[in-house]
Amino acid sequence: MTEETVLAALVESEAGALPLTAVTRDSLAATVDRLGAGIARWVEATHFTAEPGTHLLVPDASGRPLRVLVAVGERDPIWDLAALPASLPEATYALDPVIEAERATAYALGWALGAYDFTRYRPRKRPPARLVWPAQADRERVTRLARAQCWARDLINTPAEAMGPAELQQAAEELAARHGARCTTIVGDALPAANYPTIHAVGRASTRPPRLIDLTWGDARAPKLTLVGKGVCFDSGGLDLKTASGMRLMKKDMGGAATLLALGDAIMDAGLGVRLRILVPAVDNAVGGGALRPGDVVRTRQGVTVEIGNTDAEGRLILCDALAEAASERPDLIVDIATLTGAARVALGPDLPALFARDDELAAEILAAGRRESDPLWRLPLWQPYRDMLKTAIADINNVSEGSFAGAITAALFLAEFVPPEIPWMHLDSYAWNGKTRPGRPEGGEAPALRALFAFVVERYGGER
Ligand code: MN
Ligand code: MN
Repeated sequence: MTEETVLAALVESEAGALPLTAVTRDSLAATVDRLGAGIARWVEATHFTAEPGTHLLVPDASGRPLRVLVAVGERDPIWDLAALPASLPEATYALDPVIEAERATAYALGWALGAYDFTRYRPRKRPPARLVWPAQADRERVTRLARAQCWARDLINTPAEAMGPAELQQAAEELAARHGARCTTIVGDALPAANYPTIHAVGRASTRPPRLIDLTWGDARAPKLTLVGKGVCFDSGGLDLKTASGMRLMKKDMGGAATLLALGDAIMDAGLGVRLRILVPAVDNAVGGGALRPGDVVRTRQGVTVEIGNTDAEGRLILCDALAEAASERPDLIVDIATLTGAARVALGPDLPALFARDDELAAEILAAGRRESDPLWRLPLWQPYRDMLKTAIADINNVSEGSFAGAITAALFLAEFVPPEIPWMHLDSYAWNGKTRPGRPEGGEAPALRALFAFVVERYGGER
């Protein structure tokens, strides 16, 4: 398991651990003074200037590693050390001097995330370098967030062939078993019978039946927090087939589900004060003789009729039935995450999930949590006048707009039709992928907003043990 490997990169104190010292451009001179003339000469000879993102390995007289200086910046301490597990010689390192709690926690979490590698199909190239747990670090938080985030990465990185609707269900069931939660799933033809017609319509062409996964946990009297994750295990686009390049990464179209299952893992592990529900509509958006067609009209769970303007806008379709079910319980808060639109990426790029919320205070809270956790989001408007773009001649709403403007917003407005305005709701449009490797963020599946949401839930509902 990946999670065991990443946590194995954090170890108990160990004799002979090599000292690892964080320096800034400003503190370099004083640090070098303190460490002595030999190191001062080495720093000078190597032209090490503490440029953020760099580190310096200092050898002893025999050429063995003696100590490491790592240059850190002012912002986002989580990534300051995150390149080191994969780049330092395999050994154990210990921070010198001891650092304060918040930074210690960020460093430890970044170290664990930097030790991640997806090893299902080939072994690791090398074991990660190890860090002695910084004395002040919040070990429980580091452990639960590292495990959750790396689990989400694993789920997303797993190819669609090995991560279909049934396997996603299995992952949710394993999660439920781990935490004493209840998990039920409605599969295939049972979906229309249980009034989930839209989820069925999207997933019915695949040989792997669609389903709605429904996990609940916690005290029934606690505030209800309901998470709804898009679980499109592979998105071919359906009959409105994607191009080869557009389809290439579509194993990640269940990234919203993966992120929220991982968030659920952290919430349950921490014993937070919520009644948690996770709904995952899980489907393949496949091509087949029985596939949903452009121009078809689906009557959704809520009774709203949707004309299918484009079968590739399937995420909002499966979400609309799940959101209607989520809202029927009148929860305290609904959060959905979906790899929903290319338009959100055009607007904000890969690293900033688009946040939509009706409530300004709620939005401010999650944005602030994102800044604190180095896990940023950016808000886009639920601009009601654009609802006009979703008009259709023969149904209540079209699943796509005519033109190419404001695609992330019109997708969010589509979802908004299924969440009554009095129910607090946040919608996140996420990329769920690192396009290139950066410290702590290897190329591949990612769970943006996971840490932000966890911190937000801790703050709002409390109860972290
Ligand atoms: Mn699609
Ligand atoms: Mn999709």
